[in-house]
Amino acid sequence: MAPSKVLAGARVVLPTGTVDDGRVIVDGTRIADTAPPGADVVDVSGHWVVPGFVDLHNHGGGGASFAGGTAEDVLQGVETHRRHGTTTVVASAVTGDLDFLARHAGMLAELAQQGEIAGIHFEGPFISPCRKGAHDEQLLRDPDPAEVRKLVDAAHGHAKMMTLATELPGGLDSVRLLTEHGVIAAVGHTDATYEQTVQAIDAGATVATHLFNAMPPLGHRAPGPITALLEDERITVELINDGTHLHPAALQLAFHHAGAARVAFITDAMDAAGFGDGRYLLGPMEVEVADGVARLVEGGSIAGSTLTLDRAFKRAVTVDGLPVGDVVAAISANPARLLGLDDRIGSLEAGKDADLVVLDDAFDVVGVMRRGDWVVDPRLG
Ligand SMILES: [Zn+2]
Repeated sequence: MAPSKVLAGARVVLPTGTVDDGRVIVDGTRIADTAPPGADVVDVSGHWVVPGFVDLHNHGGGGASFAGGTAEDVLQGVETHRRHGTTTVVASAVTGDLDFLARHAGMLAELAQQGEIAGIHFEGPFISPCRKGAHDEQLLRDPDPAEVRKLVDAAHGHAKMMTLATELPGGLDSVRLLTEHGVIAAVGHTDATYEQTVQAIDAGATVATHLFNAMPPLGHRAPGPITALLEDERITVELINDGTHLHPAALQLAFHHAGAARVAFITDAMDAAGFGDGRYLLGPMEVEVADGVARLVEGGSIAGSTLTLDRAFKRAVTVDGLPVGDVVAAISANPARLLGLDDRIGSLEAGKDADLVVLDDAFDVVGVMRRGDWVVDPRLG
């Protein structure tokens, strides 16, 4: 059991607002109301303390893949993202052969059972060939509910989300099946019209997979999925705030229309995140990373990002000018609520897991705590 700690002197971001010269008390693995005698006082004055980041959509990092790697690879990626403040991560698979995906889900489910990842996101194979992004076209399939069920079952209760092109045959039935099994149905890699997207939302879809990316653009006679997803209060929109996937004005448009309570910052990271440029695999696809931008070797499509959520946070405050509280909502509270984990994580409240990030006044990470243990100790920085 981790010793008790009191983080003192920081600007602490609470659900009710920011407290200057606040403190966060950590008793064992949880946040507490009162400090036990003999608690270790850690001076973090001049810094921010915010809840640990929650990433709904992430394919790897630190040179290792969640989408095709071994359990050791996954742990290496998880550890890399933890050092950048992501204390909760959902591992995203990419399009692959169904039997491979089912076996891979079994391995990921064990890591979820051990508490290393928060579950599994299947991005493909039930997506549109018109909007395939970096997915292998030969392995794409229409969303057959029986096949969707096969993947959900293979995840042994740890399937958290599936991205679908809901306009394809079987799409709406698959959305209903996922919803019945408590799995988030996400609209993405889609060529749907506005009307088809409304149908998907009415069938139970609640997330937009990286809004704007891998879907038709917004047109005034063809408002498309973007308009339907932004205007419906049942939808949370994922945004990749790396400066490459989205123009800053598109990010503002999403915040303006959806409001901070309906945005989730994700990384969509691949192996090069927190690692470096070079050649990688994203599932079966070869990817070249240059200057931090990942593109398919063949065709040049953007192939995930090299983002970590600390950079998304810093950019949102310092470049996009968003209020810190809104960024905390998009990066911690909203994704935690979507995952049904908001009783344990997503905000700094007594009784919740002691998952937190210490940021300096330039919004760079100087400390990360997960379940009461330092992943990055601010006193060693
Ligand atoms: Zn992805």
